[in-house]
Amino acid sequence: MAKTVVPHTRWAWVEIDLAALRRNTHAFKALLARGVKLMAVVKADAYGHGAIACAKTMLSSGADQLAVSTVDEGVELREGGITAPVLILSEPPLESIDVLVEYDLMPSIFTDGFALAFGEASAAADKIGRYHLAIDTGMTRTGIRWTDAVELRTRIDFHRGLECAGTFTHFATADVASDWDFALQLKRFNGAIEALREAGFDPGIVHCDNTPGTVLHPECHYDMVRVGIGLYGLHPAHTTVPRIELDPVMSVRAKVTRVVWPEVGDGVSYGMNYRVPRRNIQIATIPIGYADGLSRTLSGTMPVLVRGMRCRQVGNICMDQCMFSVDVNSARAYRPNSGVEAGDVVTIMGSDGDDAISADEIASLRGTINYEVVCDFGLRLEKVYV
Ligand SMILES: *Cc1c(COP(=O)(O)O)cnc(C)c1O
Repeated sequence: MAKTVVPHTRWAWVEIDLAALRRNTHAFKALLARGVKLMAVVKADAYGHGAIACAKTMLSSGADQLAVSTVDEGVELREGGITAPVLILSEPPLESIDVLVEYDLMPSIFTDGFALAFGEASAAADKIGRYHLAIDTGMTRTGIRWTDAVELRTRIDFHRGLECAGTFTHFATADVASDWDFALQLKRFNGAIEALREAGFDPGIVHCDNTPGTVLHPECHYDMVRVGIGLYGLHPAHTTVPRIELDPVMSVRAKVTRVVWPEVGDGVSYGMNYRVPRRNIQIATIPIGYADGLSRTLSGTMPVLVRGMRCRQVGNICMDQCMFSVDVNSARAYRPNSGVEAGDVVTIMGSDGDDAISADEIASLRGTINYEVVCDFGLRLEKVYV
């Protein structure tokens, strides 16, 4: 465990390893041919890792552009002093156009109404409204259908306030090896780009690969790749694991606030559905709960690391705290130990000595994916950058 600064106000925190973030950014840059741009996806506060610090680190390690989901996320980057191009990954509400123009944020566009209003507002401000054309090639989430891209450009291109800076699609199954749906999406995307060019439209920067696409499908890196989860050191699926080495950026730690030696049969937490089963068990409390992203569905199933031991969290996870048990000097103990004390550092996610708890391990206990695990830990805990 790296030496860490513990926040003064709360004994639970997220640790962000910016050196790991830098190494991961370099690892992705190394996959790209010369001239191919890296767009770092920092939506949802950089997947819970802190947008400003992560964006600055990634931009100084080779990322060229940034992507976010919401207009507010884009404004936050600008107010944090970031001047790199920022793409909003979907078409935001019409009411946000003045903010987009003021802060120089590129929307994704797929409707005439939005395009023309954005062009008007940009021209009125003596600016060129740069946007990316979003094409739906089969995920059925956002974008103009692949067959209608040329028509859309035909209807909006007259506007002097608009400039198409890029054209992109998003894959639903880029993590699946030799996947027929992926191949079909790519074929439709290639067809749409070709049709745009034949009709005399410049698509701008052409991009489609997300993290799994970037790792598994170098044939469609085109002008730029959009990488999110991989930069944070997590694999989108088991298929990418043998193909690139990544270091997890986020760890979650807490300090023990209280330790008791309960009687056999004492209950723990709301509902008391854990009862102390024998002697020589300590119950320790840590100040982290489901409002911090430690999902209540993990109750009673989750390990924590402390003093070189893997201990079991017990009882229902509360909103702001939870408890774990320590087998002290019993035959069942992991190794002989004299228990824990208030102030001991506990690892909820991350490595401690030879052992580690990964976002994937937590995701699998929760029945979700590592993306959601890290986003959730970003909710309330203070971030400490190391
Ligand atoms: C979130 C997102 C990405 C990044 O996906 P990862 O799997 O995290 O790399 C790329 N493109 C779009 C449109 C997205 O919504």
